[in-house]
Amino acid sequence: MSNLTIAIVGRPNVGKSTIFNRVVGDRISIVQDEPGVTRDRIYAQGEWLGKQLNVIDTGGIEFNDQDFMTQIRLQAEIAMEEADVIIMMTNVRDGVTKTDSQIASMLRKTDKPVVLAVNKVDNPEQRAEIYDFYSLGLGDPFPISGSHGLGIGDILEEVFKLAPDDISNEEDDDTISFALIGRPNVGKSSMVNAILGENRVIVSNVAGTTRDAIDTSFEEDGQVFKIIDTAGIRKRGKVYEATEKYSVMRAMRAIERAQVCLVVLNAEEGIRDQDKTIAGYAHEAGRGIIIVVNKWDTLEKDNHTMKKFTDDIRREFQFIEYAPILFVSAETKQRLTQLPEIIAHVHGNFNRRIQSSLLNEVLVEAIRVNPAPSDKGRKLRIYYLTQVKTAPPTFVAFVNDEELMHFSYERFLSNQIRKSFDFLGTPIQIITRNRK
Ligand code: GDP
Ligand code: GDP
Repeated sequence: MSNLTIAIVGRPNVGKSTIFNRVVGDRISIVQDEPGVTRDRIYAQGEWLGKQLNVIDTGGIEFNDQDFMTQIRLQAEIAMEEADVIIMMTNVRDGVTKTDSQIASMLRKTDKPVVLAVNKVDNPEQRAEIYDFYSLGLGDPFPISGSHGLGIGDILEEVFKLAPDDISNEEDDDTISFALIGRPNVGKSSMVNAILGENRVIVSNVAGTTRDAIDTSFEEDGQVFKIIDTAGIRKRGKVYEATEKYSVMRAMRAIERAQVCLVVLNAEEGIRDQDKTIAGYAHEAGRGIIIVVNKWDTLEKDNHTMKKFTDDIRREFQFIEYAPILFVSAETKQRLTQLPEIIAHVHGNFNRRIQSSLLNEVLVEAIRVNPAPSDKGRKLRIYYLTQVKTAPPTFVAFVNDEELMHFSYERFLSNQIRKSFDFLGTPIQIITRNRK
């Protein structure tokens, strides 16, 4: 399932991030206590009247080494490339500036719908001033006030009205979709080529939807796999494609549509903060995760190399300790044939459902070896465990008083669950609820 994607474009200070935050609300917030996960205001999911949408704030994608106008041009290009509908933002206080006219002239060349927003219309008197904005040649200007939250509904209504109708796309239930995510140059494109190369039957997609054109499906042992955003991974040449912010945004978009994410690392360069950020997004999104260390051929190896690299990964990526690690080379094709099987395995675990009777045997045993905690003389009682959801597996522990549950005990329970059942590669979640 793909959601509508909108991009907000405009010069600095018009209020893009204010609107972005209004639309995405607190969805942008990333769990803070997990190392390596930073907050970024470049891309997030929002919701309007029950409809999901993705928002890109192109102002968050900075190109610090470029001059002002080039930055703006690159941001507009990204919007035209990535979005289904573009919101061009200006503001009534500054009026129509030269930069606004330049941005508008770039946007007039795209065949994607553009909605013109005039921000900072905080009071009715200012409404009269928005007529100047017709000169931008982008149709009716929509007055809004980011700080007062006015007019945003009207803009979004227009956005949905102009949106192409083929954006949502029903997945075939049996298909395993996976994404390769990682920094520029780790070898994603080479891996895609190697995976799709030789001996592999490419399943032609049903024509018609935009998404099909950018994904590629192939079959292996009767199972259909789909690589998300193959075209995006292979693409080369545009200036912004090599930047980290852009690659993070791309990764976030792919993660959203994938069931399993291959977090690709570069053995030659070792682990970087950006690798952790990207892996953090996949974890946050609750996807199956496999860590793939590429360019394994570049290392001078002895008996300890793999063990040492594994230890480094486990130390740096503690928040995804459940992820299997595979050392490969897109160049020599070493171990690449193992990928489909591992992906299918992780996908199976991601969708695993455990009977309550089995879960409760695990619970009884867990409480026996490590009694539930007490607080101020009150003891936590866990009555039963049940799985309420798959993809990722989610469990509810029904208790006498949720206040008595401690995260360390939740962690202990999830470890016990992992010991008893195969959940390799998938996050699992435990929610504590009072029994009514
Ligand atoms: P960006 O650079 O385009 O992302 O702009 P920001 O969202 O950071 O906003 C720039 C400044 O304009 C901030 O100080 C905001 O508080 C302010 N601002 C944003 N929206 C409005 C608005 O509707 N009315 C007024 N008066 N100020 C606003
Ligand atoms: P992407 O930006 O993540 O898609 O990375 P590319 O696939 O474009 O690869 C970046 C560079 O690394 C290219 O020059 C590749 O030839 C090289 N490369 C990719 N995989 C391997 C590998 O397994 N071993 C070696 N030695 N080089 C590789």
